[in-house]
Amino acid sequence: MASVDPPIASSYFFFILLWLTLFYAFSPLLPPSFLFLFGLPPLSHHICALLSMPVQATMLSFDVVIIGAGPTGLGAALRLTERNRTSWCVLDGSDVAGGLSRSVKDDHGFTWDIGGHVIFSHYQYYDDVMELAIDASGWNVHQRESYVYVAGAWVPYPFQNNIHRLPTELREECLGGLERLTEAHAHPPAALNFEQWFTNQFGEGIARVFMRPYNTKLWTVPPSAMSCAWVGERVAQIDLAQIKQNMARGEDDVGWGPNATFRFPKEGGTGGIYRALASRLPRGRVHLGPEHRVVAVDPVRKVLTLRGGRQLRYTALLSSIPLDELLRALAVGLESATGAAPHPPLDAATCRLLADKLDFSSTHIVGLGMRGTVPSFLKTACWLYFPESHICFYRATVFSNYAERNAPEGGVGA
Ligand SMILES: Cc1cc2nc3c(=O)[nH]c(=O)nc-3n(C[C@H](O)[C@H](O)[C@H](O)COP(=O)(O)OP(=O)(O)OC[C@H]3O[C@@H](n4cnc5c(N)ncnc54)[C@H](O)[C@@H]3O)c2cc1C
Repeated sequence: MASVDPPIASSYFFFILLWLTLFYAFSPLLPPSFLFLFGLPPLSHHICALLSMPVQATMLSFDVVIIGAGPTGLGAALRLTERNRTSWCVLDGSDVAGGLSRSVKDDHGFTWDIGGHVIFSHYQYYDDVMELAIDASGWNVHQRESYVYVAGAWVPYPFQNNIHRLPTELREECLGGLERLTEAHAHPPAALNFEQWFTNQFGEGIARVFMRPYNTKLWTVPPSAMSCAWVGERVAQIDLAQIKQNMARGEDDVGWGPNATFRFPKEGGTGGIYRALASRLPRGRVHLGPEHRVVAVDPVRKVLTLRGGRQLRYTALLSSIPLDELLRALAVGLESATGAAPHPPLDAATCRLLADKLDFSSTHIVGLGMRGTVPSFLKTACWLYFPESHICFYRATVFSNYAERNAPEGGVGA
């Protein structure tokens, strides 16, 4: 068996140590996912691994691991950066950042959002982040122009302020509901679910004609099975005197609401915001692609397993993935943690049971890329609601109205 002289062995050791030190010292210059792919943590972690944890040398360890590079995950990553935290990473099983807010560009040059997002907020921090991603000159600002299509009539949004556009019978039904509501409930009782909430707010007429059919179509579950805690400021409150005045004058009243004006990136769709935001985070921290899909979360040992088997250790975990998916990943992780102490409050079987119990809906988004120009009646339209059950879709968006570059020259995208 060949032997190695002690002086030669120590110079090999020195050389390897020097190589590792230089590698880490210059690691920020390497492409973003390079270090991660080779399982290389920041220098401080690596020294710890060399000195005290030889068995775990290939398992990365972070103070914070964020699962999901959608708006929530990227927002959290930005906050950590602002607070000068360095031991964190973001993992996402998709090839692009943005989550449900991402956009795609097709082979014909049309850009599509998943559903046509609009950006509005009254939070200064949120607005600042939007401009960190895309500077002020990169945005279009639009006046919302939105309609509800009912019984052949186009009723401007907000629906309750513009019921004069409805056919007579429906208009009377909606107005009657509003009047009865005002007489009966100067202060409507607290609603226990979404169905009760909109019936208390808008009366039985508007509930029957618009709110119930539209929301049943949109959420795919009965509104009576939904909470109303999320509604907040998104739906206009009733001003009966104003509604009657609009009816008497035949005037549209469209200015209400937090999204009466909204903005949209001139290029790249909504997803352009989140791609830009991801690129402004420190390099090598956001890891995208199927190999970064989290398949197991072991909350006992605080270890994540990625598709393909690689593992990471975390101190704090921030998940922005669908709750049922997190519960299933926890179930897998808890099974692998059998025998480890302490036992968490949930076991694998309970996690699976809870995941199965959760309701969720999904939707198909269809993009129609057409040659030509937008018909004059839709020239400035943004989005249109279709509550009636004989129409199979619930909403349409004239997406090329949001930004010229959402469609190639001479094209219309909807
Ligand atoms: C049709 C439609 C229209 C909408 N319109 C608007 C709008 O106009 N304005 C607005 O503000 N919002 C709108 N939204 C809502 C908005 O899209 C979401 O609120 C937002 O994307 C949620 O961000 P998130 O980061 O919490 O989650 P998500 O966007 O769902 O991101 C979660 C991320 O986790 C990743 N992931 C999932 N599982 C795993 C795993 N196991 N391992 C690793 N990664 C994983 C996913 O790939 C994804 O990137 C709309 C949504 C839809 C569907």
